[in-house]
Amino acid sequence: MSSFDEMDAFEGASLSARAMAARPAPYLDELNPAQRAAVEALDGPVLMLAGAGTGKTKALTARIVHLLNTGRARPNEILAVTFTNKAAREMKLRVGRMLGETVEGMPWLGTFHSICVKLLRRHAELVELKSNFTILDTDDQIRLMKQLIAAEGIDDKRWPARMLSGVIDGWKNRALTPEKVPAADASAFNGKGPKLYAAYQARLRELNAVDFGDLLLHMVTIFQTHEDVLQQYQRWFRYILVDEYQDTNVAQYLWLRLLAGGHKNICCVGDDDQSIYGWRGAEVGNILRFEKDFPGAHVVRLEQNYRSTPHILKAASGVISGNQGRLGKELWTEVPDGEKVRLIGHWDGDEEARWVGDEIEALQRGSRGMDPLSLDQMAILVRASHQMRAFEDRFLTIGLPYRVIGGPRFYERMEIRDAMAYFRLVVSPDDDLAFERIVNTPKRGLGDKAQQTIQVAARANGVSLLEGARIAVEQGLIKGKGGGALRELVDGLARWTGKLRGPLREVGVDADRVVDDEDRAVRMEHGPSDISHMELAEIILDESGYTAMWQNDKTPEAPGRLENLKELVKALEGFENLQGFLEHVSLIMDNETDDGGAKVSIMTLHAAKGLEFPAVFLPGWEDGLFPSQRSMDESGVKGLEEERRLAYVGITRAEELCTISFAANRRVFGQWQSSMPSRFIDELPEAHVDVLTPPGLYGGGYGAAGMGMSSGIEARAAEANVYNSPGWKRLQARSSERPVSQPRESRTTVIDLDAVSAYTMGERVFHQKFGYGAVTGIEGDKLEIDFDKAGVKKVVARFIMAADDVPF
Ligand code: ATP
Ligand code: MG
Repeated sequence: MSSFDEMDAFEGASLSARAMAARPAPYLDELNPAQRAAVEALDGPVLMLAGAGTGKTKALTARIVHLLNTGRARPNEILAVTFTNKAAREMKLRVGRMLGETVEGMPWLGTFHSICVKLLRRHAELVELKSNFTILDTDDQIRLMKQLIAAEGIDDKRWPARMLSGVIDGWKNRALTPEKVPAADASAFNGKGPKLYAAYQARLRELNAVDFGDLLLHMVTIFQTHEDVLQQYQRWFRYILVDEYQDTNVAQYLWLRLLAGGHKNICCVGDDDQSIYGWRGAEVGNILRFEKDFPGAHVVRLEQNYRSTPHILKAASGVISGNQGRLGKELWTEVPDGEKVRLIGHWDGDEEARWVGDEIEALQRGSRGMDPLSLDQMAILVRASHQMRAFEDRFLTIGLPYRVIGGPRFYERMEIRDAMAYFRLVVSPDDDLAFERIVNTPKRGLGDKAQQTIQVAARANGVSLLEGARIAVEQGLIKGKGGGALRELVDGLARWTGKLRGPLREVGVDADRVVDDEDRAVRMEHGPSDISHMELAEIILDESGYTAMWQNDKTPEAPGRLENLKELVKALEGFENLQGFLEHVSLIMDNETDDGGAKVSIMTLHAAKGLEFPAVFLPGWEDGLFPSQRSMDESGVKGLEEERRLAYVGITRAEELCTISFAANRRVFGQWQSSMPSRFIDELPEAHVDVLTPPGLYGGGYGAAGMGMSSGIEARAAEANVYNSPGWKRLQARSSERPVSQPRESRTTVIDLDAVSAYTMGERVFHQKFGYGAVTGIEGDKLEIDFDKAGVKKVVARFIMAADDVPF
């Protein structure tokens, strides 16, 4: 539309409006015709349904600019919903840039939650709240539910509060107030769900509080029951824009539909292939229903992708085509071919992290045939947050700056800090901070009063808190359940500290070192501990009740936290003992300062939605990890399809270089666990993928793979490295058919290398870190090996394999 047409459209409008409309609009020139149509179709419903990287967000932003530039709306008359606060900030910045001026206001550009808080503060009284209501965090919410569960006389071991919280959140996501919970849900939470929901809402009102789900639910209720309020906002928000519409849940959808009900000036953009929040109640059906909800909607389809190279796009399309019931879109691009998607298999997760670190440095130097990239231009996208640990450790070791987006860094996570506090206390019983952190975690009935008693006892005797606790126990200062629990903790800590070292034994006197007579006496010394520090860590976490605390926790985060704990134990393996590990962590945490410099981003695939990076690494493509076993177990084919959309989201974040990797083994509790490459790897179209051979020990560098000798990318990756071992082949034969959901055991196998570690003197062996060598000494489970390159070392037999068994 030319500016002349604009003027026609404004015929009869005020002079100022016409003059506004006549202003130049350079931002329109940056758009293709389809985008431009979506931007210029200012009135009435518009749906932009298009694949990744086709410029939906860009067009949405341009539309805001256009509304402002043409004087259709003032900044505060535009309601624009983004998925994250970060995306909202970014959009505001871009609007300003496109407009060539700073945008004042735009108070209604934000997330559903941030917008609803503001609205609810204005109308709180309509749902019997005061405008200064508090927003409860999860902990408060759970505490409240616990009280209600107890009042109902329900056994909260079988029916934990966190489960109730999940049930209630689910109802809120569906915009169901207690009265509206359908009969079909009556049996929820032992048949008490609906009743407890009503009680919970009543209690929140008494406390003048809301939870996150309420923010939307209350606003929907207000709009549904107060026509005048609704109309006021229908008039006020003259234009509504929504990004990532495919991930809205029912409550959000209703809220939007109500607000747009008058003028119907609503523009939603989304991609059904990127719906990845089904597990949180998002309904991809919302986007597919748009044309029905808003008859006569202007539907814009964008097909040109501006983000990625053709290889990347085709790889992504290949994977997503495995999903049923999609709208189906063909994406094309004018960008030159570029690099194929790279696929590489590694021996294990640490090797994967090492390789990625090296690659990032190589890309930074520009030695991969591309222009040098800055760290900001690279990202690692993982399926599960526990995967981050290996990368964080590696990057800290090599001093590669990184940032974790959308969550704390591994060692800052609550469960990791808790677990580390236990370890610290075992290693140094005087660590009062560690003691304070764990004394009542898990809950031991040691509240403020009991803790004060301990502190008084410690201070009176000039000893540590742990010692103070022992005194308090001995003197019976803490009564009841708490007292018993404290005794258990104190005893436990003593026991675990004891296990740090082996039993006392007599040692001979070293004549050279004798300095006085006393030294001449027979000396006693602790022998080596009879358990590994990994085993000790597990014992601590188990016996303290910490692991059980998360096992009994029914929140969606709990499984992730348990995985992080496993990952923590895994991290210990790289260290000689617990103390060495604790030192490592405190040093690296201390070194970390945010200097504002360029950093590699590490985040989950979920957090990467809407973002783009020139180089993207997608590690951990192993069945069970990605697609996630849990997601398949819980939701079957639906779950698998959501995982596949995640894969699509992941690949399409990459602009120039996309690298997918998997590890053949992950070490879990000191044992090797083999896993299969992700089924999504087989879905990648071969023509767009390069299989790499891991360098160094594993082969002859890039491109040395036995290309094309068998069909299927997975097979080629297999040939390229670790998958020729007999164990692997057995495994493959066993799992050649891979139904959507099958028990984990049948797909993973635990190879107990201890069982095969009967080595003989002189035997050729292989160690993952030190390479090949010959056995020169055998001492129980430890071997002395003369490594070809690394010299003589003592290593645990478990980490060794016979040279003949090395699968590459
Ligand atoms: P996603 O589905 O991943 O959210 P999207 O459809 O929102 O993607 P954008 O992020 O808006 O896509 O755009 C992808 C990239 O393409 C951005 O770098 C954007 O600046 C660029 N782009 C979009 N439209 C055009 C255009 N018409 N001309 C040039 N570049 C464009
Ligand atoms: Mg977008």
